[in-house]
Amino acid sequence: MCNLCNGRHVVHTFNDYSIEIKTCPVCGPKPQELINQENMVLDQKRAEVLAILSAVKEAV
Ligand SMILES: [Zn+2]
Repeated sequence: MCNLCNGRHVVHTFNDYSIEIKTCPVCGPKPQELINQENMVLDQKRAEVLAILSAVKEAV
């Protein structure tokens, strides 16, 4: 795994005013396949949270 970005494909650079997020110069941009995979996981989590929220609503 890349030591610069820890496999995240992005690096944070600090300057005087802000933190910049840049594509890792070693690994390059995140492959679309990985982005799709992450989106799927996020969608799953979102669905789980929504299910919990609606269950809570019904309980109240
Ligand atoms: Zn990297």
